Amino acid sequence: MQQPPDDRPHLRDIPADRLAASLAAAGFERADALAHRLGIAVHRDGALTWDDLGLAGIGRFVRASLSERFRFGPLLEVVGEREADDMHTRKWMLRLRTGEVVEAVAIRHWADHTLCVSTQAGCAMACGFCATGRLGLQRNLSPGEITEAVVHAQRAIGARITDIVFMGMGEPLHNFDATIAACVNLNHASGHGIARKRITISTSGLVREIRRMTAEGMRWRMHVSLHSAIQETRERIMPIARTNPLPDLVAAVRERQQALGTDAKWVTFQYVALPGVNMDDRHVDALGRELEGVRYILNVIPWNETDGPFRAPGWDEVKDFTTRLRRLGCPVKVRYSAGKQDGMGCGQLAAETIAVTPREGHMIAPPGIFTSHTG
Ligand code: SF4
Repeated sequence: MQQPPDDRPHLRDIPADRLAASLAAAGFERADALAHRLGIAVHRDGALTWDDLGLAGIGRFVRASLSERFRFGPLLEVVGEREADDMHTRKWMLRLRTGEVVEAVAIRHWADHTLCVSTQAGCAMACGFCATGRLGLQRNLSPGEITEAVVHAQRAIGARITDIVFMGMGEPLHNFDATIAACVNLNHASGHGIARKRITISTSGLVREIRRMTAEGMRWRMHVSLHSAIQETRERIMPIARTNPLPDLVAAVRERQQALGTDAKWVTFQYVALPGVNMDDRHVDALGRELEGVRYILNVIPWNETDGPFRAPGWDEVKDFTTRLRRLGCPVKVRYSAGKQDGMGCGQLAAETIAVTPREGHMIAPPGIFTSHTG
């Protein structure tokens, strides 16, 4: 007989700043104190099961009452893991309970551990240079599915994640509410406790959502994937540019800088370097012209060799391009993707079939999902 849908909210999905209200509404006494203890256990201490909550000091009777009103348990299953030859980069394939597989990549830099997380299975934006875009959108992740990747990564590396970048699969602002709820839980004192300035949302440039963040005073760090300051080129490599034209995008970034002051003092524009497409003088001049008056950093990402109609630039081409960019007077950084030789680099099509053994409660994952984002 088919089970009725379970509409109890999952504890990991509830934003930490609303957990006390949810507990109070469910009839729990001293909801503030319980919310704090639960938040720390679920997020910072990485409890994955009701038993883990017991070990974290949440008593048996409280757990029994909680389980009547809330769901809990793992939302993701680790179905694959790889470590790059550089020994600094590790990647996990994480299967959702509905069968789709997403990825998370951890990069170690001295004592810091940055985790690149996914917000969607697949992506609807269809950027021409990106593997994930070829999958189409499979589904949005919930806030808990986004942040549980941090728990699995921390368990695997035995250290705390210090920085989060929303640069995994998906366009974070296309899954707006879940992304913002995840940011809250990553940052909250009763959550993961990661500093706000160490949480970065990377967007392909959804103008309406950028303006919404500005209007609602959301101060999360933002990177914008520009990839060209010529509308025609941008449309060619990023179909989303047709409905989010460059002048509107630049205006939205300017408005954000004016409204948020020091919190948005600099915006980082990401620029995937594609020889023969967006690296000539015409494109350099367009950057200077179109971004006039914006305080920006250019983050040049040499395209990683994968399938597709593009060519990866050589070192001399990148050097020549950045020399010309520096004449614009803005800081220019080159981001060589960690782990790119091992299929973990930005925007890399490293699709490989992973052997998935079905387990109780999980469906078989679709094959060939092992991708990365350039957004
Ligand atoms: S680059 Fe980012 S926004 Fe574009 S298709 Fe890939 S995942 Fe989506």
